[in-house]
Amino acid sequence: MRAAWLTALAAALGLAACSPAQPGYDLDKASPGAVDQARLLAATGDGDNWLAFGRTPDEQRFSPLDQVNNETVKNLGLAWSADMDTARGQEATPLVVDGVLYVSTAWSMVKAYDAASGKPIWSYDPEVPRDTLARVCCDAVNRGVAVYNNKVFVAALDGRLIALDAATGKPVWSKVVVPDQKSYAITGAPRVVKGRIILGNAGSEYKARGSIAAFDPETGDEVWRFHTVPGDPAKGFENPAMEKAAKTWTGKWWELGGGGTVWDSISYDPALNLIYFGTGNAEPWNPAPMERTGDNLYTSSIVAVNADTGEYVWHFQETPEDRWDFDSNQSIILADLPINGTPRRVVLHAPKNGFFYVLDAKTGAFLSGKPFTAVNWASGLDPKTGYPVINPEARYEKTGKPFISVPGAAGAHSWQSMAFSPKTGLVYIPVQEAGFPYAAQKDWQPSAIGFQTGLDNAAVAMPADAKVQAGAKQATTGSLLAWDPVAQKPAWSVKYPGPWNGGALATAGNLLFQGTAGGEFIAYSADKGAKLWSFPTQSGVIAAPMTYRVKGEQYVAILVGWGGVWDVATGVLAGKSGTTRNISRLLVFKIGGKGALPPAPPLAAVPLDPPPSTGTAAQIAAGGQTYGRYCSACHGDAAVAGGVNPDLRHSGALNDGAAFKSIVIEGALQHQGMVSFRAALKPDDAEAVRHYVISRANEDLRLEK
Ligand code: CA
Repeated sequence: MRAAWLTALAAALGLAACSPAQPGYDLDKASPGAVDQARLLAATGDGDNWLAFGRTPDEQRFSPLDQVNNETVKNLGLAWSADMDTARGQEATPLVVDGVLYVSTAWSMVKAYDAASGKPIWSYDPEVPRDTLARVCCDAVNRGVAVYNNKVFVAALDGRLIALDAATGKPVWSKVVVPDQKSYAITGAPRVVKGRIILGNAGSEYKARGSIAAFDPETGDEVWRFHTVPGDPAKGFENPAMEKAAKTWTGKWWELGGGGTVWDSISYDPALNLIYFGTGNAEPWNPAPMERTGDNLYTSSIVAVNADTGEYVWHFQETPEDRWDFDSNQSIILADLPINGTPRRVVLHAPKNGFFYVLDAKTGAFLSGKPFTAVNWASGLDPKTGYPVINPEARYEKTGKPFISVPGAAGAHSWQSMAFSPKTGLVYIPVQEAGFPYAAQKDWQPSAIGFQTGLDNAAVAMPADAKVQAGAKQATTGSLLAWDPVAQKPAWSVKYPGPWNGGALATAGNLLFQGTAGGEFIAYSADKGAKLWSFPTQSGVIAAPMTYRVKGEQYVAILVGWGGVWDVATGVLAGKSGTTRNISRLLVFKIGGKGALPPAPPLAAVPLDPPPSTGTAAQIAAGGQTYGRYCSACHGDAAVAGGVNPDLRHSGALNDGAAFKSIVIEGALQHQGMVSFRAALKPDDAEAVRHYVISRANEDLRLEK
């Protein structure tokens, strides 16, 4: 009754004027999470719901809703908000199914809300052990859930795939779906294709052999698995694709796994019956220590497999001989575009390496490719094959000289989802202009714990030099780029002070929504890039917005909360992007929304107050080496942390060698995620790191004065 009454009222007020009659959904009576294959395939025309990670199987992130549009967006206001109980990077896109909003948060927690009122329905915590942080590069993030057959599926950071009852949030089943829980993690959103859960995993900076697999949604049983790199040839190959790939590798790549993990993008074309996914870097980043040469298939590639069997169909490698961490895991969008005057089904891709690719979706044939930002590691692409012309200086392990690559390891574009509007024909890319210095570590050997990149991070750590830091900050920016994929040229762009801004949402209301690292949620006109509306979010935004409709009213939702790898790893530059404060919160807007956020707490100034530097020069240098290899990935380059992980320059343990050792060697703070590094470090190493951090804190104290 309530729903019918509201629908009548909405119609009377003209709210539903541009939309078909509402079904009169009643939360109390409905069957929550009632998603099947037919609904997923019909998602394009179903603006009320956002049923899957990229909304539709082609992952265009385009909504047909237009109640919020260029004229009405000025009246967009906060409808409701929900505080999250985690304070780490929030990367998830919420889903909405029949008036219920499902969202995952940091630490792989899941929450369900009444999508119209914001009333909490249930909450689930998989209780991921906090020491899982020691094997994840990029914060305790999770990018989203899947909903299918009355269940909500979440992949937990520690490698479990968990099915929850959509009505109650209670677990139905839980399975470990990674080869081991020492090197692998999962941050990506599961997808549903033909009644199976499709999921990859992460870990190419550790010891991981990439793969993607399909699971039975009722039992969690594995149906098929496709590896992205070959295993040990002595054990035989799983399929001809692995045998073919093995010819493109040298050395004993399988000892470290090879990399190529499938940690984010997965798209599906029902007509072609293909599943598309991106693969990560080859490992270690520096190929020299493992005598790794060759193209190293199928790393840094887009791969298409048969949607029923997982069998290899085609691949396109974007970065052969990867030594720069140029993952190809970024959003894969499928679209119909006129190419040379002929309509074609194409794959649109803007990977880390800085080139925008248009491929034939059926065959993987290279149609075109152009740099969408500054690129110096390659001078261009072969016009026929798309194979890059690699700059010899970029092969830092061969030249023996550090190389500052643009783009760098953060990528010209990372997991922050791009969007495509069939109305404007434009792709909207959160672009990052951020170089990265690569220096090969001499005599590098794999170790039992930590990052396995083969880089000498100490050699290229940010110096305590105001001029150098200012120059690096000036060269590090971000933008929202509207790209014409047919003409392969920009249509418009908006510049931001730093990288690591949020994902994109395009709508039929000629709007493009994006949140920024600086703490602003913005609506632009999709065709011209005019800034039409914005809302202060109090914390940096890295996730992508989404939109839905309940009882005739359109809502726009965004999960707010700064974090991720840019925050935890980039040191001085982390603060360049905007606010590094994390206030994790779901914000939901509608026309005429009158809600307000509580005032943001003031930022507390934390002055540097280190003990005097008493380490010897040799001790500080050795500590810097150890810090660069084992600590910088989480606590920041040159011992400067972002906003999410502890800044060791402020650690009370700096005053006490025994306390510092109890943390680094004994694992005193394991419950908070700081595991023991005993497997790789000795007490003297910990003492050297302490002296290095004290020295760095004193340098920065002098710099502040
Ligand atoms: Ca990577």
